[in-house]
Amino acid sequence: MVRVLVTGGAGFIGSNLVISLVKEGCDVTVVDDLSMGMMKNLKDVQGKIIFYKHDVCDHVFMHRVLDANFDYIYYLAAVASVVDSVERPYITHQVNQESVVNSLEYLRINHYFPKKFLFISSAAVYGNYPELPKKENGRVQPLTPYAVDKYASERFTIDYGTLYGLSTVVVRFFNVFGPRQNPSSSYSGVLSIVTKCLLKNKKFIMYGDGSQTRDFVYVDDIVRALIFISKKKETCGVYNIGYGEQNKLLDVIRQYEKIAGKRLDIEFKDPRSGDIQESMADVTRLKKTGFVAKWGLENGLKKYWRYAESEF
Ligand code: NAD
Repeated sequence: MVRVLVTGGAGFIGSNLVISLVKEGCDVTVVDDLSMGMMKNLKDVQGKIIFYKHDVCDHVFMHRVLDANFDYIYYLAAVASVVDSVERPYITHQVNQESVVNSLEYLRINHYFPKKFLFISSAAVYGNYPELPKKENGRVQPLTPYAVDKYASERFTIDYGTLYGLSTVVVRFFNVFGPRQNPSSSYSGVLSIVTKCLLKNKKFIMYGDGSQTRDFVYVDDIVRALIFISKKKETCGVYNIGYGEQNKLLDVIRQYEKIAGKRLDIEFKDPRSGDIQESMADVTRLKKTGFVAKWGLENGLKKYWRYAESEF
C-alpha cells in the first residue's frame, strides 16, 4: 500500500487532498495541530487514516512520524494567514520555514527517499511587481514574513533535491476556493466569505471597487494537480497552480450570484493596504506536465454552491 504523509491535513486544502488520497486507496497519515484545521473536515475518512493532533514544530515528534519512511510527503502545514505572519513573525517562521527544513534534514541524514516531497508555496512570493502573468522564473518580491518563509522553504526544498538527491517539488497556489474553506476572518479566502454572506443574507464588505483580479482555482483541481505532479517522476522545481485566467472579483461575484439565484448585498470600502491589484498564473509549465484542469471557474462555483447549501 502507498504510504502518504499530509501535514496540515485537517485544513481546507489538506482535508480535500486526504479524502482523495484515501479514495485512491492510500494509507494516509495526517499531522495537524488543529490551530486552523477542524476534525469535522475529515469526518468522511474517520477511522481510515492515522491522525496526530500535533505541532509540526515538535521536531522529535516529527522524526518519529518520518521514521515510517513514507512514499509521498505533502507539506501543507502552515500558518496560512499573511496578517498573522505580520503580527507574529517569529512563531509563524518556525512553522512556515523551520519545520520544513527540519523535516528535509531528517530525511537526508536518515537516507529516507520518498518518491516525492511536495512543498506547498504561494503566489504571495511574487509580491507587487506588475508583470503578468506570473512566471515561476520571474521576479519575486516576498513582502511579508509569510512570503519570505514560503520562498525560503521553496529554495530549501529544491536545494535538498539538487544537492542531496531527494525527489522534491514546489507548487505555488493562486486563489483556491471550495468546500471546507474557513470564512472566519476578513482575510479568509474571499469566495468563502462571499458564500457565507450569500447563504446567511449578510452584507459583504468589498475592499476596493471589485476591479482587482485573481486567478481563482477550484480546490478539486488543486488536489488533482498535487496528486498528478507528485506521481510524475520527472517533475521538479516550481509549478504555479492556477487556471491562467485573470478574473475581476466583481465579475466572479456576479457569476456566482446567478448560480446561487441570489443577490449579494455589497458595501464598498477603500482598498486595504497590502492587497494586490492584479494576479494571474502563467501555467505553461504546469500544462507541460500533461495536467489538464477538470472543473474551471464556473463549474467550480456551481459545485461549491451545491456543497455550501447542503451544509447550511
Ligand atoms: P488552512 O489554514 O486551512 O490549512 C493549514 C493547516 O495547517 C491547518 O489545518 C492548520 O491547523 C495546520 N497547522 C498550522 N500550524 C500548524 C502546526 N504548527 N502544526 C501542525 N499543523 C499546523 O489553509 P489552506 O488554505 O488549506 O492552506 C494549505 C496550504 O496551502 C498552506 O501551506 C498555505 O500556505 C497554502 N496556500 C493556500 C492558498 C489558498 O488560497 N487557500 C493559497 C496559497 C497557498
